[in-house]
Amino acid sequence: RAMIEAKGLSKFYGPFAAVRDVSFSVPEGQVCAFLGPNGAGKSTTMRMLTGFLAPSAGAATVGGHDVAEARIDAARTLGYLPENGPLYQEMSPAAFLSYVGKARGMASDRLKPRLEAMKEACSLAPVWGKPIAKLSRGYRQRVGMAQALLHDPSVLILDEPTGGLDPNQVAGVRELIGRLRDEGKTLLISTHILREVRAVCDRVLLISAGRLVFDGSADDLAGSE
Ligand code: ADP
Ligand code: ADP
Repeated sequence: RAMIEAKGLSKFYGPFAAVRDVSFSVPEGQVCAFLGPNGAGKSTTMRMLTGFLAPSAGAATVGGHDVAEARIDAARTLGYLPENGPLYQEMSPAAFLSYVGKARGMASDRLKPRLEAMKEACSLAPVWGKPIAKLSRGYRQRVGMAQALLHDPSVLILDEPTGGLDPNQVAGVRELIGRLRDEGKTLLISTHILREVRAVCDRVLLISAGRLVFDGSADDLAGSE
């Protein structure tokens, strides 16, 4: 069953096509890399897949729910790591994650254990009460991950989860992705450095100048170069 579907997604800014007629489908449990250089259209595609940006043409579904017409149902299934990290920088991770959980309609008896689980899983204990603005890039990224994972979604759309991290932190992200994969989650992970996620990905979608130009295994991609 398709957990993420892009159906002819396009985004135009005036005459410029940031994304042009992109279609693909990610089956349940698959871990898919979304590869392309900066400016290729990865973030724009992901924002359309998550319902944050209205497409110029086409449609998207998550967990079988149309992200425009059944936004609440899609959001329940979906965790999204946006490109620019968490908003509300004056809040601590504790306050921000609690706010996000309530905004997503999580009851407090469910939210409390999930906050503890995220503090643990994303190693946030040392900074739990500090303003997000004062945290290092690596910690801010983990707050973003905790936010995406908070409601235990079955689909994760992660925009450059390794972006700007040092090799040690990249290894941490890779390990987390491996765990999510073992739990049977469906993942779409954008990156401009395939090597950083290659070991955990079943499939590579390559986007260039707004168009999907390759869909296959990482080995086949290496072979075609
Ligand atoms: P990537 O995530 O692969 O780096 P983006 O999806 O962010 O690429 O951007 C794709 C292209 O669309 C880039 O050329 C970018 O400059 C352009 N673009 C993105 N958002 C806008 C916007 N709001 N207005 C005009 N152009 C945009
Ligand atoms: P707003 O109050 O602006 O509608 P939300 O309360 O919906 O924002 O979301 C709070 C934060 O969580 C924002 O950073 C938003 O980008 C992010 N977010 C919203 N929905 C999801 C989701 N399904 N998965 C991951 N992050 C989300």
